[in-house]
Amino acid sequence: MYLSRELIRALATASGRPEHWRDRALCAQADPEMFFPSKGKPARPAKRICQACEVRAECLDYALQAGEEHGIWGGLTTGQPAPGPGPGTEGSQAA
Ligand code: SF4
Repeated sequence: MYLSRELIRALATASGRPEHWRDRALCAQADPEMFFPSKGKPARPAKRICQACEVRAECLDYALQAGEEHGIWGGLTTGQPAPGPGPGTEGSQAA
């Protein structure tokens, strides 16, 4: 079953609790095993979903803070180096 982002927001609001970034996670509508693929299974389908996810930055931030050791978070596989700052931002290596 697919729930639109608007419906998910409306349900979260109606529940009376503050909205959390997880309420907008696209993976909540996908097979969880896709985001924790067993050895030899492709990670690409999950990463493709992450590319379209509006809370990708929050998700990656959470995974880094929490030290998640398994799964795909923010479009990256755990153990994969976190993306550095973008070009032209403070701390970037670009000249
Ligand atoms: S970026 Fe995070 S919250 Fe969004 S689909 Fe990927 S794993 Fe889920």
